[in-house]
Amino acid sequence: MTNENKNPTSPPQPSPASGEGDKHSVAADVGALLTGLKTTLSEAFRPAVTTMYPEDKTPRSERYRGRHYLRRYDNGLERCIGCELCAAACPVGCILVIAAENTDENRVSPGERYAKTYEINMLRCIFCGYCEDACPVQAIVLGPEYELSDTSREKFIYTKEKLLEPLPPDVQARLTTKEKK
Ligand code: SF4
Ligand code: SF4
Repeated sequence: MTNENKNPTSPPQPSPASGEGDKHSVAADVGALLTGLKTTLSEAFRPAVTTMYPEDKTPRSERYRGRHYLRRYDNGLERCIGCELCAAACPVGCILVIAAENTDENRVSPGERYAKTYEINMLRCIFCGYCEDACPVQAIVLGPEYELSDTSREKFIYTKEKLLEPLPPDVQARLTTKEKK
């Protein structure tokens, strides 16, 4: 008969090497703690990177897609010719274009037609930029503005009058570069 403990309810007997294992485990924990403290201390003395929004704004990329604009030619005529390609390309159907004929007495754009009504429902827009890509005369473009909050749903229907505002200078510069290529 051997000395082996056959009773399953008796407590496990410590192995001779377990004391050594505990020492390694404590050393590893202390090492990890010191590594964490070193990282904390090194970050504590670096300058803060918080951007004080809304006074300061983070720069956006040149191709950022925000609020829309309708453009004019240098002579003041509207670029939009009422072709509705932007409305057809829009995946959420948030553009409404109603075209009308230009006349000699009332010339609004260089083409046969112009957009008598042009509206974008900004609550539905997903800022994909498909309308800008689809437009054959670069009439509709997306600018850099993203602060579009307002106080009623009606104010998010951007009418032609609102969309025909002058372009921000950086968007104008981007489009001028694009046209030169
Ligand atoms: S950006 Fe996209 S979703 Fe918004 S109006 Fe243009 S096509 Fe429609
Ligand atoms: S914005 Fe461009 S695509 Fe849309 S109706 Fe006017 S000309 Fe056509």
